[in-house]
Amino acid sequence: MEFKKVMIEDLDLKDKKVLIRVDFNAPLNEKGEITDDARIRATLTTIKKAVNDGGKVILMSHLGRPKGKVVPAMSLKPVAGRLSEILNIDVKMAPDCIGPEVEKMVGSMQSGEVLLLENLRFHKEETDNNPEFAKKLANLADVYVNNAFGTSHRAHASVVGITEYFDVNAAGFLMQKEIKYLSNVLVNPGRPFIAIIGGAKISGKIDVIENLLDKVDTLLIGGGMMFTFLKAMGKEIGNSLLEEDKIDLAKETLDKAGDKLLLPVDCVIADEFKEDAKIKLVSIDNIEPGWIGVDIGPDTVRKYYKCIIEAKSIIWNGPMGVFEMDPFAKGTIEMAKAVAESTENGSVSIIGGGDSGAAIRKSGLEDSMTHISTGGGASLEMLEGKVLPGIASLTDKND
Ligand code: AMP
Repeated sequence: MEFKKVMIEDLDLKDKKVLIRVDFNAPLNEKGEITDDARIRATLTTIKKAVNDGGKVILMSHLGRPKGKVVPAMSLKPVAGRLSEILNIDVKMAPDCIGPEVEKMVGSMQSGEVLLLENLRFHKEETDNNPEFAKKLANLADVYVNNAFGTSHRAHASVVGITEYFDVNAAGFLMQKEIKYLSNVLVNPGRPFIAIIGGAKISGKIDVIENLLDKVDTLLIGGGMMFTFLKAMGKEIGNSLLEEDKIDLAKETLDKAGDKLLLPVDCVIADEFKEDAKIKLVSIDNIEPGWIGVDIGPDTVRKYYKCIIEAKSIIWNGPMGVFEMDPFAKGTIEMAKAVAESTENGSVSIIGGGDSGAAIRKSGLEDSMTHISTGGGASLEMLEGKVLPGIASLTDKND
C-alpha cells in the first residue's frame, strides 16, 4: 500500500524553523539517566534530514506523566545530552516549550542548529488539546513535522490542535515506516495470516481480537487472558488471572471464532506469584486449585510453532507468560524463536510495541523480526482498526 501523506522530504526546509513532534518518552532511572535510548535513536533519520537540509530544528516531546505540573525529574534535559552525543551537535535545551524566553531562543537560531523544548506535559493544555496552547507552539515555527507515532493515538495539542495552524502537516520517516508496516499487513497480508495475542487481560485486547478475527486465518492465544477463556469453557483455573466480568464475552468470542481461535493445551503453574515459586507443568485440564498459571507449556509451543512456520504474515501483541520473571519467560522466548525462524523463511512479522517489544528484546531476537513498533498504545489501536487522530490530521499527498 502506498503511503499517501505528505512527507518531510516533500518540504523545503532550508533556513526554515522546522518544528518536529517526536516521542522522546525514554525510560529514566532514579538518577535521571536514560536506561534505553531506542525511542531517541528511532527518530534520528528525520532529525538528521532536517539538519542536513539547513533547517532550524525545534524538537518537542512529552516525557512521563507530569499531569500539567513542572516535575524536575521528568525534564527532557537528559535527552538533550544524549542527543548531543549521538548527533555530535550541541543540542540546546529550552527552559519551557512556550513563552518569551523560548521565542527568544528560537529567534536566535542558525540554520542546522537543534533546540529541544521542555516537556510539553508540564502544561495541562497539551493533553487538553487546548487551541491557544497549540497556537503558541505553532507560532514558534514555519514548518510542522510529526514523527511521534507512539503518541499518534492521542488528540493532544502538539499532535492534533497544532495542525490547524499550518498549511501542510508532514510525516517524519518513523511515522511513515510504522504506518506502512502496520497497515500493509492489515490491508494486504500474505496468507496464511496469523495473530499471536497475549498479555495480561482480555479487556485490554478484546477490540484487537474482534477486529483481527475478521482478517486472520488463525489467532493464537496466550498470556494471562487465556485463563478467562479456559474458565468460559468450564475448566478449573486455580488462582490464575481471571476477569470475572469478561467470562460471557470470552464465551461469545469462542463461539464466534470457532476453529480460528487456538488456545494453549498445557501451561506452567506456580504455587506463588514469585520467581522462586514451586512450579509444575500441567495440561489445561489439570490446573490445580490454589495454583497460578504463569506461562504456556511445551506442547502449546509445538502446536503454535507449526502455525507460525506455515504463516506468511504474523502479528504479535502481548507476551505468552509472565516474561519479566525468568522461569516464566520460556514460552514467550520459544515463540519468539519460532517467529524469527518463520521470518527468516520469508514471512512478514510485525510486533506490537510496549511489553511485546520488551519480550522480544529479552529473547535477543529483535533483529530477526520484520518490524517492532515503537508505539504500544498506538499500534494496538491500529490493530483495533481505529483511525488514529495524529495520523488523520497529517496532510494527504494530493490535497
Ligand atoms: P499487556 O500489557 O496486556 O500486553 O500485558 C503484559 C503483561 O502481561 C506482562 O507484564 C506479563 O507479565 C503479563 N502476563 C502474561 N501472562 C500472564 C499470566 N499468565 N498471569 C499474569 N500476568 C501475565
